[in-house]
Amino acid sequence: MLEKVKIGGIEYNIEYIEIPEEDGAYAFAEIDHALARIQVNSVCNEQIQEVSILHEIVHAVLFNIGEQKLNGNEKFVECFTQAWYQVLRDNKGLIM
Ligand SMILES: [Zn+2]
Repeated sequence: MLEKVKIGGIEYNIEYIEIPEEDGAYAFAEIDHALARIQVNSVCNEQIQEVSILHEIVHAVLFNIGEQKLNGNEKFVECFTQAWYQVLRDNKGLIM
């Protein structure tokens, strides 16, 4: 399991914690920019954890480049994340 990720020169810690189900739904992950921390719900399936980390990385990139409007657009963030997740998973040699 990945424990740290560098985003825009800042090292974010990744913590795997159990977040209980609430109102019949699970929270997947969340990011705290001030603490440089991503918390992932360890209850979730492993691939869901991966895509959730990528989702939070997309938030961090948008935050760092000052795109606060896009950063607040969950539909954009999730669509962008899913597209990149598929490309990165299905093309292992893409990034050396
Ligand atoms: Zn989000």
